Amino acid sequence: MFIRPAILFLFGAMACANPGSTSTMDTAPSSTQQDNPYYSRTDTTHLNVSDAEWKRILPADVYQVARQQGTERAFTGKYWDADGLGMYYCAVCGNALFRSDSKFASSCGWPSFYQALRPNSVRYEEDKSHGMIRTEVLCGRCDSHLGHIFDDGPPPTGKRFCMNSIVLDFEADNK
Ligand SMILES: [Zn+2]
Repeated sequence: MFIRPAILFLFGAMACANPGSTSTMDTAPSSTQQDNPYYSRTDTTHLNVSDAEWKRILPADVYQVARQQGTERAFTGKYWDADGLGMYYCAVCGNALFRSDSKFASSCGWPSFYQALRPNSVRYEEDKSHGMIRTEVLCGRCDSHLGHIFDDGPPPTGKRFCMNSIVLDFEADNK
């Protein structure tokens, strides 16, 4: 008896949809809220802040992802395998983005959600960079780059919001 190569290929292609491991939640406070006059978890007014101003305010690694469309390396962010109950906020402006109950275990190496908290929590733009056509997900309040959205997520939406941990702040319900 032998294993057909096609079966191995299928397993590899589906790895992204399989549940990944889970671990305890890292609830360390983010340093991005300090000295950031635009950060608010209650004000949903759209922000128009210059790139130079964000560069002055944000830590360099947050700025690189949020304002220069960077991507953190897979499996390096603090939330990709987190499973605590609570709310995920934009680390740049404090806008509420996702509830933990829309987060699903993904072995892709980035925190993944099937639904945004509100329709206007985020907005979308076509992204043709790196030789691909993808849909970019941006914060609905501050226009920071959060990640991309794909059509291989679980029910009920079938969507996968593939986010960068570094632009998310998590606050646990029982804090
Ligand atoms: Zn934001």
